[in-house]
Amino acid sequence: MALIVQKYGGTSVGSAERIKNVARRVAKWKAQGHDVVVVVSAMSGETNRLIALAKEIQAEPDPRELDVVIATGEQVTIGLLAMALKEIGLDAKSYCGWQVKVETDSAHGKARIAAIDDGPMREDLAAGRVVIVAGFQGIGADGAVTTLGRGGSDTSAVALAAALKADECQIYTDVDGVYTTDPRVVPEARRLKTITFEEMIEMASLGSKVLQIRSVEFAGKYKVRLRVLSSFEDEGEGTLITFEEDESMEQAVVAGIAFDRNEARINVKGVPDRPGIAYQILGPVADANIEVDMIIQNVGDHGATDFSFTVPRGEYNKALSILRDVQTHIGAAKVEGDDKVAKISIVGVGMRSHCGVASTMFRTLAEEGINIQLISTSEIKVSVLVDEKYLELAVRVLHKAFGLDQKISD
Ligand code: ADP
Ligand code: ASP
Ligand code: MG
Repeated sequence: MALIVQKYGGTSVGSAERIKNVARRVAKWKAQGHDVVVVVSAMSGETNRLIALAKEIQAEPDPRELDVVIATGEQVTIGLLAMALKEIGLDAKSYCGWQVKVETDSAHGKARIAAIDDGPMREDLAAGRVVIVAGFQGIGADGAVTTLGRGGSDTSAVALAAALKADECQIYTDVDGVYTTDPRVVPEARRLKTITFEEMIEMASLGSKVLQIRSVEFAGKYKVRLRVLSSFEDEGEGTLITFEEDESMEQAVVAGIAFDRNEARINVKGVPDRPGIAYQILGPVADANIEVDMIIQNVGDHGATDFSFTVPRGEYNKALSILRDVQTHIGAAKVEGDDKVAKISIVGVGMRSHCGVASTMFRTLAEEGINIQLISTSEIKVSVLVDEKYLELAVRVLHKAFGLDQKISD
C-alpha cells in the first residue's frame, strides 16, 4: 500500500464527464489499497475566463483581489470531484488551499509555498477518505488568498507530496508523458521513458509548460518521485523524472527541445564601453521588476559597444520606455527592439561529454536560412533567439537533426 498524490490538469477536469472519469481512476487506486490525495486544476479555460473578467472591471487588476477571483476556478473542481467520488460510493473530502493550510508568502500571482499542515489530511486518509485539494492556491501570512502562478497546480501537487512524504506524485495531463518536444508542434516527437531532473528543470524553465518549473524545483529539493502520465489512457507508465543518470544506458546527447514565444529583444547600440555600463542599463530594468533573460555585450570598438538582452514579451513596452530614459542618461546612440522573437533550446546532460552539439544546431538552422539573433549556453543546453515566424520550422529541423524522431532502444 502506498500514499500517492495525483494531480489532474484543466483538460482532464474540463467537463462533468471528465470529472466522473477522474473519479473512476481514483477509485481504481483506492481499490488497490492505496491512500490517494488528489490535486485538481480549474476546468480548462476557466482561469483565462476569470482573468479576462477581472480585466473588464479593472485594466490592471488589484493583485490581492485578482487572486480572490482566480482561485475560485479550483474551488469548483474540488467540490465537483468530491461529489463524483461520493456518487460512486467513496468517502471524500475537499479542501481549499487556506483550509489545508498551504501557507505561502504574500507575492500575489506568484506566491511561494512556505509550509503545509499535513495533520488534517492524514486524519482523513486514516479514516479511508480520498483527500481532494485545490491546486494553484494558498494563504498568505496576512490571511489573504494567494495563487502560485500559471500552471501552479503542478507545484501544489509536488509540495503536498513532499509534505506527506508520498511514495509518488503523479501528474495526469492531456499527453502521456514528457516528449522530446511539444507534440503539438512536432507530431514525430517521442515520449521519454525517463528524463533526468536536471534536464527537466531546463526544459521547464526554457518554455516546456508540461510541468511548472517550481514543481520540478520542489521535486529536486525534497526528492519527490515525480511522474507525468495521461489522464485519458488506462495503461502506460508515462515519464519518470530521475535523480541519477543511468550509466548503463546509452545517453542521447540531446534529450529534448524546448521553446518559448514569450520573448522580446532590446538592443542598445553605441554604448560607451566603460566599467559599470551593464549595471547602468540593466539596473533600472531590474528595479522595475522586469526579468531579464539572455544578455549579450560585444567587445568594444573605438570606445563603444552594443548591448542586447531579452525580456518577457508582456514587459516589452515598459522595458523600452525605461531604456529610452537610460539612453539619454548614458549617451547611447540608439535603442531598438523586436517583440516577435522566440527562443529555442536544445537540452541534454549528454552535452557535457560531447562537443560539436552547438555547431550542429547552428549548421542546421543555417541550412534553412534561419538567422540566429542571440545565443546563450550552459553546460547542458544551448539556446538561440530567432524570428518568431521561423519557430516551428526551426524546432522541426532540429528535432530531426538530433535524431529525436528515431526510436532509441529502451
Ligand atoms: P494541464 O492542464 O494538464 O496542466 P498543460 O497544458 O499545462 O496541461 O501541459 C500539457 C501540455 O504541455 C501538452 O498538451 C503539450 O502541448 C505541452 N508540452 C510542451 N512541451 C512538452 C513536452 N516536451 N512534452 C509533453 N508536453 C509538452
Ligand atoms: N488553473 C491554473 C492555470 O490555469 C493553475 C493550473 O492549471 O495549474 O494556470
Ligand atoms: Mg499545466
